[in-house]
Amino acid sequence: MEKKKIAILGSTGSIGTQALEVVEEHANQFQVEVLTAHSNADLLIQQAIKFKPNAVVIVDETKYQQVADVLWEHDIKTYKGEAALAQVVEMESVDVVLTALVGYAGLLPTINAIKAKKTIALANKETLVVAGELITILARENGVVILPVDSEHGAIFECLVGEHQNKIEKIYLTASGGPFRGKSKEELKNITKEQALKHPNWNMGAKITIDSATLMNKGLEVIEAKWLFNLKPEQIDVIVHPQSIIHSLVQFEDGSMKAQIGLPNMRHPIQYALSFPFRLPSKSQRFNFMDYPQLTFEEPDKTTFMNLTLAYEALEKGGNLACILNAANEVAVEAFLNDQIGFLDIAEINQRCMQEVSFIQHPTYEDYVKTNTRAREFAKTLI
Ligand code: NDP
Ligand code: MG
Repeated sequence: MEKKKIAILGSTGSIGTQALEVVEEHANQFQVEVLTAHSNADLLIQQAIKFKPNAVVIVDETKYQQVADVLWEHDIKTYKGEAALAQVVEMESVDVVLTALVGYAGLLPTINAIKAKKTIALANKETLVVAGELITILARENGVVILPVDSEHGAIFECLVGEHQNKIEKIYLTASGGPFRGKSKEELKNITKEQALKHPNWNMGAKITIDSATLMNKGLEVIEAKWLFNLKPEQIDVIVHPQSIIHSLVQFEDGSMKAQIGLPNMRHPIQYALSFPFRLPSKSQRFNFMDYPQLTFEEPDKTTFMNLTLAYEALEKGGNLACILNAANEVAVEAFLNDQIGFLDIAEINQRCMQEVSFIQHPTYEDYVKTNTRAREFAKTLI
């Protein structure tokens, strides 16, 4: 059987490194064609020497020479900058593009990959949040499949296999609730980034870890689910499930519910997206019922964690509102990580941007680009 040739965008991150573990475990199935990083040249070089891709991209141009100097001896092409990142996905030899970079930066490479008819394994949820309508239409026009890597969406996708045209009544996205579940606004005022960076169940990149603590991550996932599964806002529910064992659920027209269950481990949804429609063996630790005699559920606190409410508002109103929310949130999270604002300011900034940045009901790609720039500029004035 021919190996699937994979481009991993963001190979030096949490998802990217775990994807490489999957590739290593199944070297007879997968071959790495492209690796990309923003600025972590050392790790990119190490990965490239080990996995021997055709090409690598380092976005930070100041790191280019360091990478190129080492990799030319290994006969690996090295490119630099954002334009190269957007182009490299079009390479003839690539079958699957795993979008594991963080934030808005994922949008253009994903658009180009879809136009080049590559299968998309999508971790970069921000792409669907920013421009879900544009991306899903483009994917349909090009006959491209978008396979979710986000664990909740991967779970729903697994539940839907074999259901063909059976209607979804609703889905439940499960949420761990993050490190501050049950806390009041008063208690959250003086939260430090060190506290917010400690997620109870998952070990992830800094941005998504903060998003998990503010429940923005679940908000982004609600929007992501709308586009992936073609749902109305009222068909998407969030349920807090602190053990993160049920990764999400689908409820069908006959009232039957299907859930995907297991220990929290991102290697599973990554592997399933890469191997779909087949399952490959995995040595991952197996679930033991006796370790979890109780699985519990509660309502999310949408007042304290206002970001979830903002995401539903963006979903209801559509247009460029989710793009505004995403841009504001990226700026606010960065400012929080730089100790410039408090924890609760993140949602405040998001809300102000949604109120103040011009709303466009039917945005084009250029409108999204402008919206992203404007919302970032406005968010920065609030810091
Ligand atoms: P990380 O921060 O760990 O990694 C991000 C990767 O993207 C790194 O390779 C980084 O390069 C690169 N990168 C960062 N900024 C840019 C940029 N502006 N342009 C190009 N490349 C860039 O993130 P995660 O792996 O945690 O998350 C990646 C995506 O997957 C996010 O969208 C996240 O929401 C989603 N996701 C992550 C999960 C997880 O468990 N981590 C779970 C579900 C979804 P460098 O290392 O050089 O900085
Ligand atoms: Mg998730």
